[in-house]
Amino acid sequence: MNIKFRIKKRKPLTIIEVMSPYVRLVKDVNRHVLKRKNIYVGSCPWCGKSSLIVYAKNEVFKCHNPDCNKGGNKYNFLMHYKGMSYNEAVDVIKNPRPTKTGD
Ligand SMILES: [Zn+2]
Repeated sequence: MNIKFRIKKRKPLTIIEVMSPYVRLVKDVNRHVLKRKNIYVGSCPWCGKSSLIVYAKNEVFKCHNPDCNKGGNKYNFLMHYKGMSYNEAVDVIKNPRPTKTGD
């Protein structure tokens, strides 16, 4: 048999999926109207100010509080926030744990 079964690869987590368990993100409606799509705003988990902006399309986040100034990509988020190493963050994002339905 030459038929190859295509194994569905799990998609890596998006920055929104990575951050939303820890940060409440809301779609920025005003920016959305201005055709800057996929921008989310929320409270920064480091400084607590609502100055966090997540650019979903570019998969980067940035806190616009100059005293905090945290920013980076989804890997940096897990490294900064969860204290993971880069490799651990890559593993979490590329191999999301399947949600077990109790076996
Ligand atoms: Zn901040």
